[in-house]
Amino acid sequence: MPRQTKIVATLGPASSSPEVMERLIAAGVDVVRLNFSHGTAQDHIDRATMVRAAADRAGRAVAIMADLQGPKIRVGKFEGGRTVLVAGQRFVLDAAHDEPGTNEIVGLDYKELPRDVKPGDTLLLNDGLIELTVEDVRNEQVVTTVKTGGDLSNNKGINKKGGGLTAPALTGKDMEDIKTAMSFQCEYLAVSFPKSATDMEMARQLANVAGEKWRHKPGLIAKIERSEAIPQLEAILKASDGIMVARGDLAIEVGNASVPALQKRMLKMARAMDKVTITATQMMESMIVNPVPTRAEVSDVANAVHDGTDAVMLSAETAAGKYPVETVEAMAQICVEAERAEEVRPDADFTNKHFGRIDQAIAMGALFTAFHLGCKAILALTESGSTALWMSRYRSHTPIFGVTTQPVTLRRMALYRNVRPILMPNHHDRDTALLDAEKILVDRGVFKPGDTYAITCGEPMGHPGGTNMLKVCRVA
Ligand code: PGA
Ligand code: MN
Repeated sequence: MPRQTKIVATLGPASSSPEVMERLIAAGVDVVRLNFSHGTAQDHIDRATMVRAAADRAGRAVAIMADLQGPKIRVGKFEGGRTVLVAGQRFVLDAAHDEPGTNEIVGLDYKELPRDVKPGDTLLLNDGLIELTVEDVRNEQVVTTVKTGGDLSNNKGINKKGGGLTAPALTGKDMEDIKTAMSFQCEYLAVSFPKSATDMEMARQLANVAGEKWRHKPGLIAKIERSEAIPQLEAILKASDGIMVARGDLAIEVGNASVPALQKRMLKMARAMDKVTITATQMMESMIVNPVPTRAEVSDVANAVHDGTDAVMLSAETAAGKYPVETVEAMAQICVEAERAEEVRPDADFTNKHFGRIDQAIAMGALFTAFHLGCKAILALTESGSTALWMSRYRSHTPIFGVTTQPVTLRRMALYRNVRPILMPNHHDRDTALLDAEKILVDRGVFKPGDTYAITCGEPMGHPGGTNMLKVCRVA
């Protein structure tokens, strides 16, 4: 059984050569994440070019996801680059402080902080490792007592427990970065720290305008990493094509212990709304330095698979780790084993379901039929990718081939769970298209004589959203 769950890998110094890129793709990377928190516009353009070239050489559909930095809620710099905070001491965060920081006071990149906090609030620095209690706010100064101390270096992030920082999701830098990302027509655009559907709508509008020249519209991914986003989840999902369970920042804001249940709820809700999902952060963290993962990491990846995620994501593991390729290989293996253990029950899944759209009903019919006939595969001839997306929202052990004439759709489907994207020449005649699709799979060694498969398409051909036909065939 081939792997269903997709792998997103972040590029960085450890993975920015064509050789490593090629090995990452061979190891199973489906989506490459360009992290706009680091590097220049030109760095990202160069990396995108490299990814496209490596994917072409490998003959694989690989999507690019541009991940915007979002608001920088950070402390300033320190004398000598760092300081040490001790529990019980006083520490001041001062928006007006322009000098290098000390162990008593530091400036702020995020000037609005004094307006966003009040006495009694908890601030978390450096990924939640340092905890401060706000005692007082005096003009531009936030006076705190250190609750949990530790090392603090330049420009570390600040989170407020329970949420409530007012920084807008899209900064001026993000708006420029959207233009850069559209110049290489990224398939997905990830928005950091959205609080509402409006943040996503704004990003979409900016992306569509910037992509107009190429008539390119990317898929929008909302990174769920703020407390405020949780009650807005349904509206955010409606305004997006998918979500990332961004466990790094989310865990700091809502507390570590709340994250696993939230992950399950978010993945389920997204799937029910026909949206794609990525589970992110610290999935294989120990492999940044070790050649094998911990048992806990293996379980975490497997559980995300069982929670129904489309993709699992690697961050520093592939961007800056010692074992980028080994990490992808290990992750791919965990996914396959977890999928094998998964129970598939399309009958139960479809009970009491109503489909208002013809194309959606056909997609479900194909899944149901393929399951009961034991078909080798389902082929979805699709212009927009929607049929393949709908099919992939249900647990199924039947491989789905998303067959398209559109290169952008091809790469976009790389993120859909259990969908293998295939490019086909443009046809205006239905029967040639059906035969051609079968031939591609015979040539690839997927189909042998006697195999049955289900195939969906739209008649007349070439109209997005026009799927209206299901055929069951036997390979001659
Ligand atoms: P980041 O997002 O890596 O850009 O911070 C993911 C997360 O917060 O988990
Ligand atoms: Mn984050």
